[in-house]
Amino acid sequence: MRDSGDLDKLVKVVSSALPGDQKFIALHEPRFCGNEWEYVKECLDTGWVSSVGKFVDRFEQDLAEYTGVNNAIAVVNGTAALHICLKLAGVEQNDEVLIPSFTFIATANAVSYCGAIPHFADSEMRTLGLDPFKLSNYLRDITEVKRGHCYNKITGRRIKAVVPMHTFGHPVDLDPLMEICANYHIELIEDAAESLGSYYKGQHTGNFGKLSALSFNGNKVITTGGGGAILTNDESLAKFAKHITTTAKIPHKWAFNHDQIGFNYRLPNINAALGCAQLEQLEQFLIKKRALADSYRKVITEVDCVSFMVEPEFAKSNYWLNAILLNKPDITKRDYLLEKLNDQGIMSRPAWTLMHKLPMFAEYPKMDLTIAEGLEMQLINIPSSVVLGETNE
Ligand SMILES: *Cc1c(COP(=O)(O)O)cnc(C)c1O
Repeated sequence: MRDSGDLDKLVKVVSSALPGDQKFIALHEPRFCGNEWEYVKECLDTGWVSSVGKFVDRFEQDLAEYTGVNNAIAVVNGTAALHICLKLAGVEQNDEVLIPSFTFIATANAVSYCGAIPHFADSEMRTLGLDPFKLSNYLRDITEVKRGHCYNKITGRRIKAVVPMHTFGHPVDLDPLMEICANYHIELIEDAAESLGSYYKGQHTGNFGKLSALSFNGNKVITTGGGGAILTNDESLAKFAKHITTTAKIPHKWAFNHDQIGFNYRLPNINAALGCAQLEQLEQFLIKKRALADSYRKVITEVDCVSFMVEPEFAKSNYWLNAILLNKPDITKRDYLLEKLNDQGIMSRPAWTLMHKLPMFAEYPKMDLTIAEGLEMQLINIPSSVVLGETNE
């Protein structure tokens, strides 16, 4: 490729920020160096491995305390958490739900599980998340508010909710987004799957939505193997979320009665045990992730054609996944970098294929998606495991 000098330099400096003695460096691997063995062993020794147990209760309390959200309900994965968040926010069959096109598939799938229609919105470079100002202009053009509901004038469908996603741990600009939600009678649900440990204006993400979803999948900041949680400051929604994710069973000593169609979305105790141990280490993980991001930033700044994604000025990010951005979208350059890095055993990858380009979502409504389409061609993620920050402290 012509003009590959800068890119070759980039590969060198990224490599210099990483340990030199490893053949392969994963994108994000879990770290178990606390009480994981002890807590999991306790589950096995006592027989409490399944859907109830003290670690489930403790994990929920610990999550609420850590995030500052009043209630946390542990569930089987982040997608299930999002599904229930949307359902409890009142999303119904045939509603539209605004989501970024630049997101992981779970956001769009969860909307579909409600029988609702994802409506794709653009992102902004500052946060990589929803652009509230562009969204505001768009809604002014295409919606009307009637009897306390927001309608899409083009499709005739109700727009019930918006789901900002805090991309790679960088919080979306929530204040203007909340104002839009208030003006247009749209519910706010945060997809905080990537942002445990991230703060918007001093407050933990997940506090701003009516309900929010976390994920503890194997590649997230902390993991329970697989798992998720619903966060909400609304007491009655929290009770309902617990009820409906645990088969809607009416508590009773021996009778099995259910008052509606519920879901078996419970997080097993053995996974919650892992979660309790992981949460104890989260502060340490965050320090190390920040150290790694810092050393990336320092060396990547020296290279001309790219920048390193840093937290927006109003936020403190968990730096879940580090990202490099080409100054201009350029798929040839992107792929050249991906080839070179991966060839050297430095696992790197582009972000997701945009949701509106997937066959099952291709016909759904969308606004102008120029920024998202650029991001697809200019962004790559580079290794971000906690362990990589340990030599950089
Ligand atoms: C990880 C993730 C989820 C949830 O994924 P699960 O694997 O179901 O836990 C949801 N949204 C985003 C943006 C994610 O990155």
